[in-house]
Parts: sequence; C-alpha cells; structure tokens
Amino acid sequence: MSKQSMREEAERLIRETMEKRNLVIKQGSTRIDAVCGKCGAPNRLAAERGAARVKFTCKNCGHRQETL
Ligand SMILES: [Zn+2]
Repeated sequence: MSKQSMREEAERLIRETMEKRNLVIKQGSTRIDAVCGKCGAPNRLAAERGAARVKFTCKNCGHRQETL
C-alpha cells in the first residue's frame, strides 16, 4: 500500500465517522429557537428530544437561563 492510498483511506474513515456522528445528533436531538430573557437575542439550541426545559447561556450577553 502506497503512502498516498494510506492517506486516502485514513481520510475516508474520518469522513465516515463524522457522518455517523451527524446522523446521531439529528436523530437524538431537536432544534429550539429560544429568545434571551435579558437582551432578547435569538439563540439556536440543540436539545434532547422530549426535553421540556433546556438550560442555555445567551450567546449575545452571556446570561444563563432556561427555556420556558
Ligand atoms: Zn442575552
């Protein structure tokens, strides 16, 4: 096996692993659009499916809070 083909094989494995990981995230979680209660900035959150309340930190002002 040449160095070139070994590198291609390694890159293929990395790509497959990342694709699998993306799939898991898509299946196991949902997206929530939350508005910061302090500054009103929109925050896009990844939450576990069925989770009613999600703790998050506002990306704009850093205020820590939970979704309602
Ligand atoms: Zn905020």
